[in-house]
Amino acid sequence: MAKLIKENSEKGRLHIDTPLLGESLVSKELLEKTEAKEYFRMHPDINVLKIGGQSIMDRGAKAILPILDELIKAKDRHKILLMTGGGTRARHAYNIGIDLGMPAGVLSKLGDKVSWQNAEMLSVLLSKHGGVKIGHGDNLEQLTMFCRLGFIPITYGIPPYGFFEHPPEVGSIPPHRTDCGAFLLAENIGARSLIYLKDEKGLFEKDPKKLSGSEKKQLKYFDRISARELIDLDLDDLIIERPILTFLKQAKCLKELQIIDALNHPEHIIPALEGEHVGTIIYKE
Ligand code: ADP
Ligand code: MG
Repeated sequence: MAKLIKENSEKGRLHIDTPLLGESLVSKELLEKTEAKEYFRMHPDINVLKIGGQSIMDRGAKAILPILDELIKAKDRHKILLMTGGGTRARHAYNIGIDLGMPAGVLSKLGDKVSWQNAEMLSVLLSKHGGVKIGHGDNLEQLTMFCRLGFIPITYGIPPYGFFEHPPEVGSIPPHRTDCGAFLLAENIGARSLIYLKDEKGLFEKDPKKLSGSEKKQLKYFDRISARELIDLDLDDLIIERPILTFLKQAKCLKELQIIDALNHPEHIIPALEGEHVGTIIYKE
């Protein structure tokens, strides 16, 4: 810990003797020393559930309402933070931006309002059950309190990079979208679990939607796989955003995440909250 040193007792000026003094905070050796034995977890009982934009919300009532019914059943036994994806409207905005040659940070600003709209929609639908839409400011410290009081906090999944979005390795789509936002928030609040509600039973070797019926039958399914293995496999397409694999490999709190088919099996949500393996689990080694 830093010490306060009284250097000049006449003037009474205090100096801080901190081990980080004079460091660029870049040195690998120094950074290693900052590794905590155990990281502090702000909301260790909160389960972060990300509702897909394209995979769930865009399908309307028949997809959304059965999922909300499960969440209403679950909320008294499980603390839940709902996060929302964008979906087709965000994709349309990206497409116009791409046509105009806009960089990722501009596209990010164009698409972020859509996950906000979806959060608004869910908070309206859940309002009589305690649904409350929150932003990315001070309310995030209050998540446990919201849940204890019987609320279901809902926030948008898009992380606040905006014009500060990282340049993508390839192309111009912002690499950190709502799957990433859900991961980053779950990690930094020390959440109990992170569950992605999508429309496929989990991760396959290829996107099943792009294959014929017979090709789908032969498709390899991953029940459980480590982030490292998945990075090494370098699949062309994934069911979650690719940066999450690196995030998970480096995570301090989260040990795994699960992707479930909440569209066809909303009844899998409660077992997933109870820690059952009902989809694909991607874990940190
Ligand atoms: P969300 O709306 O939840 O963000 P997306 O539509 O962006 O969902 O991503 C989920 C979709 O990813 C699935 O519906 C599936 O069609 C597709 N997908 C791509 N690659 C894979 C893969 N390797 N395994 C499973 N699904 C995949
Ligand atoms: Mg997506």
